[in-house]
Amino acid sequence: MRIWQWLVVSVVVIVLAFCGYVFLQIRSLTVEQITNDLYVIYGLGGNVAVLDTDEGTVIVDTMALQYQGHRIIEEAMALTGKPITLVINTHYHVDHSHGNPAFKPGTRIVATKRTLHHLLQTDADYFSGEAGKLLPNDTFDHDKEITMGNKTLRLVHPGRGHTDGDLVVLFVEEKTVHSGDLFFYLHYPKIDLEAGGSVAEWGDTLDKVLELPFHTLIPGHGVVTNRPKLEQFQAFIRQLASIGKQAADEGLSLEETLRTDKLTEDKDYKDVTMIVDIGFTRQSVLQSAWQEANDAFELRH
Ligand SMILES: [Zn+2]
Repeated sequence: MRIWQWLVVSVVVIVLAFCGYVFLQIRSLTVEQITNDLYVIYGLGGNVAVLDTDEGTVIVDTMALQYQGHRIIEEAMALTGKPITLVINTHYHVDHSHGNPAFKPGTRIVATKRTLHHLLQTDADYFSGEAGKLLPNDTFDHDKEITMGNKTLRLVHPGRGHTDGDLVVLFVEEKTVHSGDLFFYLHYPKIDLEAGGSVAEWGDTLDKVLELPFHTLIPGHGVVTNRPKLEQFQAFIRQLASIGKQAADEGLSLEETLRTDKLTEDKDYKDVTMIVDIGFTRQSVLQSAWQEANDAFELRH
């Protein structure tokens, strides 16, 4: 073979290997059991909770692809042996909601009204046709209690933070909360200012989560953890908000703010990666804090 032919073959092999790697990452899910009836599924996307109840299986969040939704259904059936009767979306982001179209049309799908609003604004094409039947069809503003036979779920929209429509789920009998992306464990969070997210309000929002009676915490990203880790994350968010406010008060530029040494509560925090770095970094959170404090962003209505 000539050199250019070797080059073409090499490029094809590398591309195929990368595609294979991506497919394996999408396909592979890991399950952790939290209580007798509650599990978390980790994969490429937000963490998924699976609750076994007398009235079927409850799923919280559906990852990023319809294919992943099918994989979640397979895993959940293997864990509980019961059909899925309730799906909850903690918020509108792709990695928590785009598995929805895999579920049976007619499935009860609960989210906040703001989450449905953002899905319709940003994802109308994705949720067109048959997939439109898997948009949230049971929405609320502030809180909602759902009884599923022997289990109680308390859904709360505690306020602005990651977006303006996040909900957290308290699994009452399991004393466990799924926080959605209001909590990233040991990872820098996305702060979706365009969707009404707020660094300034996020700390007080977490006070309302901390009022709930739970021991165990399923974060939107990162491994299952506990209440003190949420308190640490709250300290990080409050420090970030005060850096943003101080920058605005003193007229510091974005570049000056990014050089701050005042953000110290992020010890051991990592960037969020989904095969590649997706830009949730120390720099991005400082930038969001500065933008919010200086009103230097565009709110999507
Ligand atoms: Zn998110």
